[in-house]
Amino acid sequence: MTVEELNMLEQKVIDLRNQGKYKETVENCYNCLQGGIELKNYRAIINAHLNLAKTFYYIGNISAAFNSLASHEEVYKKHGDKTDELNSYKMMFLLYEYNRNLEKSKIVLDNTIDLGEKLKDYITVIDAYSNYCNVYILEGDYKKALEMANKGLSIFDDYVPYDKLSNIKVKLNIANIYISNKNFSSSKVIIDEIINSESINLYVKEKAKCYDLQGNWYYYQNLYKEAFQSYSNAKDIIERYNDFNFLKHIQEKRCNLCEMMDNTKMGFKVQKEYITLLNEQNIRELDTLALNLEINRSIDSLEKRANTDYLTGVYNRFYIEKTTNEWLMNAYEKNESIVCILIDIDCFKRINDNYGHLFGDEVIKQVSRACSSILRKDDLFGRYGGDEFVIVMKGAVLENGTKKAHKILELIRDLVIKKDDKSVSVTISIGVADNITSKAKQFKEIFNIADIRLYHAKNRGRNQICIDV
Ligand code: GH3
Ligand code: MG
Repeated sequence: MTVEELNMLEQKVIDLRNQGKYKETVENCYNCLQGGIELKNYRAIINAHLNLAKTFYYIGNISAAFNSLASHEEVYKKHGDKTDELNSYKMMFLLYEYNRNLEKSKIVLDNTIDLGEKLKDYITVIDAYSNYCNVYILEGDYKKALEMANKGLSIFDDYVPYDKLSNIKVKLNIANIYISNKNFSSSKVIIDEIINSESINLYVKEKAKCYDLQGNWYYYQNLYKEAFQSYSNAKDIIERYNDFNFLKHIQEKRCNLCEMMDNTKMGFKVQKEYITLLNEQNIRELDTLALNLEINRSIDSLEKRANTDYLTGVYNRFYIEKTTNEWLMNAYEKNESIVCILIDIDCFKRINDNYGHLFGDEVIKQVSRACSSILRKDDLFGRYGGDEFVIVMKGAVLENGTKKAHKILELIRDLVIKKDDKSVSVTISIGVADNITSKAKQFKEIFNIADIRLYHAKNRGRNQICIDV
């Protein structure tokens, strides 16, 4: 894949998601992962994981979304920046909110606010306070909710007074709390101000929310006819942007009001709308279920592809790093030994130069196949890149690794690679390291030692093993 193809693919992911084509979005996210790995473009890998998490969230596959977020975190911690961490918190909040896990939501919001302030991303901080306010409203703690809304307001005043959407969000929160506290005069001032402002027309969701609040305002004062009208205004807006849950909530309020007003004719009409909505939602849920099943089925093969080296079919660098890091973490806790064997073909450039790149590819494939043939069940083997391969052995000491390295050295020495009328022999050099003597806790540490030893094996004349520099 070329850099341009990867860029186009990333744009395609965004377009597909905007069009609601979620299955295709997931597939193309995996293609981006593959491309990112091939080109060592960590930005693309980080984006792909986050896009996967978002897409899974949209289709209600929350456990898959959590998994993607975990992979996102793993990569951004090594290759990303603080903005990636902030994006991760924002996504995590949505997932906890979806699961109604209010305690975890609050922890994530604390993290979002801390980091958002550090990065001076005040819009995100205001959003977090807004969400915090809603969490407290759900818990019925209006005092804390007001505290959060006011904090959001002061950030708005101090840092982004020009941002109209933040202004509206902050004010809606405050109006909501005032209504809950039966402070009708103050809430009316805010609601009227928002509804009469010109900027509200740019933000449909907030406009619908404002009419919903206005409906509550009338309802709590037993002004049912006016409340019905406000909820109807909200309904008209929501129908345009398709938020099923919000629409259902509003329709329930309208049904209830018809009953309270004893308006059978209107009640009948609203009931019919409500039933149609539930039917549509049912169909949508079934569609989503089918889509999730289909995606889950293809995830296995897509994941396999993302972890596989395209030329040899063995694991790629990304998977080896990820798995070895997990192993080393475990091994550290259990004081278990792990060995890393790094293999590099000798003078491979010459093979490419003398026999052509395609023949070079064949050499890489056959060396890979030969190494694979003598692995234990638990050995992790993959192509690190170019003409370099890695074996990671769990529960093995340096001596086991050295034995295996010798076997491989012999095996490759005896290998005759043939393709068409060409035939060559190759040799390899090997560096072996273990986590116990090197105190390595991460792949890059154990790999670095193995790499230094490989370098020495090359320097000492190639076609040999080094285990002790
Ligand atoms: P040394 O003994 O020091 O390792 O010498 P070398 O010539 O093997 O040097 P090095 O390992 O640095 O060279 C690796 C070469 O592999 C460089 C690159 O052109 C070539 N290469 C990388 N990926 C591929 C591939 O997918 N196919 C082929 N045919 N060649 C590749
Ligand atoms: Mg080489």
